Amino acid sequence: MARPQSSQDNEREACPCGGISFDDCCARYIDRGEIPPTAEALMRSRYTAFVRHNAPYLLDTWAARTRPPTLDFDDAPQWLGLQVKAHLQRDDTHAEVEFVARYKVGGRAHRLHERSRFERTGDGRWRYIDGDLFD
Ligand SMILES: [Zn+2]
Repeated sequence: MARPQSSQDNEREACPCGGISFDDCCARYIDRGEIPPTAEALMRSRYTAFVRHNAPYLLDTWAARTRPPTLDFDDAPQWLGLQVKAHLQRDDTHAEVEFVARYKVGGRAHRLHERSRFERTGDGRWRYIDGDLFD
């Protein structure tokens, strides 16, 4: 009988955003410094950064005018999954991404349904501005 695959095998680790492999998905942007080509790719990598409590990446991909001074994860929920509903490219430098992120707090499951706004600055990088919540 074969041994079950080790969950420690980082090469095969699924991406929190829903990608098959973290290494082939958001790790390109979070760990290897590639520039996400679309606002949706950036949004997925930011969700993954929230799951992995990566404050430097989140702050770096936040528009300067709306970025919080610091970010901590003391009250962070347990994120359960991401579903991207829509990606609206407004023009070359503005886009919106609508998504549902499921999470758990104190044993209860919730969903965050948001339409986020993104802008692309002169350095070619998309950054998160802010978002509107549904419900
Ligand atoms: Zn991913």
